[in-house]
Amino acid sequence: MAGEPQADCLFCKIVAKEVPATIVRETESAVAFRDINPQAPTHVLVIPKVHYPDAASLAAGEPGAAAEILRVAGEVAAEEDVTGSGYRIVFNTGSGAGQTVFHAHAHLLGGRGFNWPPG
Ligand code: IMP
Repeated sequence: MAGEPQADCLFCKIVAKEVPATIVRETESAVAFRDINPQAPTHVLVIPKVHYPDAASLAAGEPGAAAEILRVAGEVAAEEDVTGSGYRIVFNTGSGAGQTVFHAHAHLLGGRGFNWPPG
């Protein structure tokens, strides 16, 4: 059922604390933790505790949880002191766009310069 934990989902296991992660913030509906393969000095993933495969399906199914992802990303950006230099929030959606984990997540990237368009 939409939103239910999936036994084979890595990020559901991080939510359940069955897989270790460096958690930097946790709220009632979201968890933020450091990416295992950071692409910037600050690279934090912000995920909903509920399981949806991508950001759009999360927003359609549980808009409050989707809004919480953005709120937490902003709070972590402030805590990491990357707001002044600018930061990026990225939702890769679909394998063609680089999505590899099919549990909705925002990448919060900061602490370096960024190019546009992204690669
Ligand atoms: P995607 O490619 O947009 O789906 O992002 C998935 C992200 O999860 C990648 O940046 C990975 O480095 C990251 N990742 C994969 N496994 C783990 C883990 O166990 N802990 C933290 N980050 C992970």
